Amino acid sequence: MSAASGWWRSLRVWGLGASDTAADHASAESWQSVQRTVCLWLGPLGVLSCLIGLLAQRYTTLFFQTSLTLLALLLATLTLLLLVRVLNVGTVTRTAFVAYAAVMLLSLNRDFTYWVPQNQATSSVLYWIAILYTMAFVTFPARGAVLACRIIFAGVVGICAVRLGMLYGAGQLTGRIGASVAQYLIFNAVLVLAQFAVSRLRLQLDEARAVAYLDALTGLPNRRAAQCLLETLVSTAQPFCVVTFDIDHFKTVNDTHGHQVGDGVLCQIGPLVTAALLRPQILARWGGEEFVLVLPGLDMAQARALAEGVRLSLAGHDFAPAGRLTASFGVSEWVGGNDVEAVLRRADAALYAAKRGGRNSVQVAQVGATSP
Ligand code: GH3
Ligand code: MG
Ligand code: MG
Repeated sequence: MSAASGWWRSLRVWGLGASDTAADHASAESWQSVQRTVCLWLGPLGVLSCLIGLLAQRYTTLFFQTSLTLLALLLATLTLLLLVRVLNVGTVTRTAFVAYAAVMLLSLNRDFTYWVPQNQATSSVLYWIAILYTMAFVTFPARGAVLACRIIFAGVVGICAVRLGMLYGAGQLTGRIGASVAQYLIFNAVLVLAQFAVSRLRLQLDEARAVAYLDALTGLPNRRAAQCLLETLVSTAQPFCVVTFDIDHFKTVNDTHGHQVGDGVLCQIGPLVTAALLRPQILARWGGEEFVLVLPGLDMAQARALAEGVRLSLAGHDFAPAGRLTASFGVSEWVGGNDVEAVLRRADAALYAAKRGGRNSVQVAQVGATSP
């Protein structure tokens, strides 16, 4: 998936992508880089921990030796593939999570066969399960992480219940074993509760972030959202065009019909314009009665044609009670380089040329042109 479509996935856009959840948005990529950094540290640490366990011969049974060896190999391979970018961070974290969860739950089950009856307690290695509860939030989105934690906890409770029942049946269940297992279950429950609290915070953060990228009046992506998409496109060198447009004589609407009617007009722009868009194109409110279309993958001719279509649909719409309105458009194309502002300046210059030329028209930017 391209960076632009990944960005799109996390943005709720008026009339487009209505089923997408608003979250992560601008920090989607920075969150992935956090995940990547965490993984690139945790991978070698995990391998090291497994190797120390093996070399120090702490775990002498064939089961532990095999599972630690396999886990070390898997973690080393995943870290390497992440490093050379053959696998993405999502695949790496999910694979490592599932493998580690399997090892932990099998180890817990195995513990009851020899260790618990012999030592009258669960082994300390089982407390490494804490890593799973922590990693769940690096691996999955907030709700998924809570679900993963619950599944692991259910697995732990289920294994403990069955194995305690078996010990009881064999007449091997003692008070010390019961106390040790109870302590282990309480440890797990505390971690689940702590992670639940963290997940609430993360959901709130996702909601706050979504609000920060939406325009309060129109519900469209705001200027910050558009700038983020533009910066993503430029930094990943994906060709795009920009169309800025400004409603003509909008002040007259406010002066004649009042500010509320003016607001109503602005709210009608979204449904009218987004009907002509396809993912990952967006319409954002740039400010006031000025809007911007960010059009990844479109060349100048296509962007101009799209702008012309939008111009006609706006001019043909009855914004009752404000009546008929028009808008002026400026189109510009990214011509390489890292300067997002330059693309916008050229679009603005074209827009002002359209205004000067009598309004209700589409003007195409010349490379090197800037607004007056
Ligand atoms: P032009 O054709 O040159 O663009 O003329 P114009 O009247 O559209 O432009 P001008 O810049 O003179 O006026 C813009 C008006 O837009 C003035 C301002 O009050 C109004 N406006 C800006 N934001 C809002 C808003 O959120 N709601 C309402 N109702 N009006 C707004
Ligand atoms: Mg205007
Ligand atoms: Mg204006």
